[in-house]
Amino acid sequence: MCAWRIETKCLQEGYKPGNGEPRVLPIYQSTTYKYNSTEQVAKLFDLTAPGHMYSRISNPTVECVENKIAALEGGVGALCTSSGQSATLNAVLNICECGDHLVSSSTIYGGSYNLFAITMKRMGIEVAFVDPDSPEAEIQKAFRPNTKALFGETLANPKLNVLDIEKFARLAKKNKLPLIIDNTFATPILCRPFEFGADIVVHSTTKYMDGHAVCIGGVIVDSGKFDWKNGKFPALTEPDASYHGVVYTKDFGPAAYITKARVQYMRDIGNCMSPNSAFLLNLGLETLHVRVERHTENALKVAQYLKNSPKILAVNYPGLLGDPYYDLAKKYFPKGASGVISFRIKGGREAAIRFMDKLKLAAIVVHVADARTAVLHPASSTHRQMTDEQLLQAGIDPDLIRFSVGLEHVDDIIEDIEQAL
Ligand SMILES: *Cc1c(COP(=O)(O)O)cnc(C)c1O
Repeated sequence: MCAWRIETKCLQEGYKPGNGEPRVLPIYQSTTYKYNSTEQVAKLFDLTAPGHMYSRISNPTVECVENKIAALEGGVGALCTSSGQSATLNAVLNICECGDHLVSSSTIYGGSYNLFAITMKRMGIEVAFVDPDSPEAEIQKAFRPNTKALFGETLANPKLNVLDIEKFARLAKKNKLPLIIDNTFATPILCRPFEFGADIVVHSTTKYMDGHAVCIGGVIVDSGKFDWKNGKFPALTEPDASYHGVVYTKDFGPAAYITKARVQYMRDIGNCMSPNSAFLLNLGLETLHVRVERHTENALKVAQYLKNSPKILAVNYPGLLGDPYYDLAKKYFPKGASGVISFRIKGGREAAIRFMDKLKLAAIVVHVADARTAVLHPASSTHRQMTDEQLLQAGIDPDLIRFSVGLEHVDDIIEDIEQAL
């Protein structure tokens, strides 16, 4: 990896054309690859030669985007997936099986919550949810001998609490487990969890990375730093019968985890990213640094406006002076706290819904982190499967509004809120 600044990496990492080659990342819309001999294909299937064999496992367009994201996060490798949900699923199932256990922060994206609390439970993997703000000793009680990972979200959707990544990293280290962080809202522009001790990062690329709401996608990034040989992860240290006894830690060193996720897990499950989606994601990544900075700048102004409005009950934005997470935000997001705000209007659930229906510029969409300002009522949409008790545990009041500040002129966004209030 070179010493470029992150802004330069957004544009220059991943695809590096040679003399006379296309300037822009080409879309290799091909499921398959041609070889000159049977022996060459055999080597690919034995994982003894590099190269693409089939686009479910790897593809040159997708690979460039994976390399760019790995460079942005500072990891040894990345694997793109068909969605953020599949990134989380694959990241966990790559190291967890029936009978295993996971500890997760309770303040996570609603989709991750459902995946952990319902679907994984049905698969025989139990998840213990912990309040991420609890003291270390309290969280420690959730770990068991069969726990395989600790999971948290940098900037939780939609409570917007900031995870103390270093605290979680200490707990993971103490229990000899990898820390998996969902870094979707922060993006590597604002926070790189590996620098604070995380081992694996996942993203829904659907959000800021894409930034234009054109493609669902996800990615897993491996820091390459976790010690998989500590006795808890035989799937990485014992021979894989499906590859003539390949041992991931021995044959792939620091890239053991991400290689297994690709050549074994992705091969078998198949929730891969298409080359066309990767091309569009790359376009988004080229401007990620510029967009995230403006989203952040606009969001702070909107949060300040809301904070001063007599019609607003509470505002959550960790970049706002006085927010309970302000100090953690200063530490983990020195460049700003991203573009999403949540708030409560005086008058409860009804008033919240009336306000949303009056907005003209801000659109009601089941999306967030888009170039266009978007608004959502989590209790009646993304989190509607949760009981009131579960909602409060995830930090969501029934009248909470999630407001994703876009790239329009901030005065137009504020005027829209003003007229709706
Ligand atoms: C949207 C989101 C996901 C899920 O990603 P999809 O691409 O919608 O599958 C996961 N985590 C966070 C924080 C999200 O915002």
